[in-house]
Amino acid sequence: MKLWVTDLDNTLGSTGILKGDENRIGELSLFPDVLNVFKVLIAQGIPIVVLTKGDFVYQRSKIHQLGLTEVIDNIYVAENDEGKSSLFQKILDEHDIPVEEVVMIGDGRDSEVAIGKKFGAQTIWFKYGKYNKDSEAPEGVRVVENYKEILEMLSEL
Ligand SMILES: [Mg+2]
Repeated sequence: MKLWVTDLDNTLGSTGILKGDENRIGELSLFPDVLNVFKVLIAQGIPIVVLTKGDFVYQRSKIHQLGLTEVIDNIYVAENDEGKSSLFQKILDEHDIPVEEVVMIGDGRDSEVAIGKKFGAQTIWFKYGKYNKDSEAPEGVRVVENYKEILEMLSEL
């Protein structure tokens, strides 16, 4: 693995609790072990890129609140899923890394996971939240429910 592309909302922290209310941003915190995973990536020189959608300033504030501003290499904010797909292409172009060496992780099975799969990246479905509870995993997609599981699989990626 040479590049880590991650969704933000409900993948790095439980942003769903904010219900889009900017005044509640102080309630946000990282999921357990996210930093432990990122420390391993950083130690290996693997860039961490956030690919998310929504309002740029709001998304950036969430990253800041989560304490990740200095941890991540870049943040890309799309307006919708189609935009996410083009931004993923842009990320690939900018990093010049074979897509098989890219990990794409997110809670959106039909969003970032589907995009990663479409491009041929390694995909991790962060199976979090009520909307994911009863969904089946697509073929070839790794499924985790916490970052401890990711820590354990990092050497295989
Ligand atoms: Mg999400």
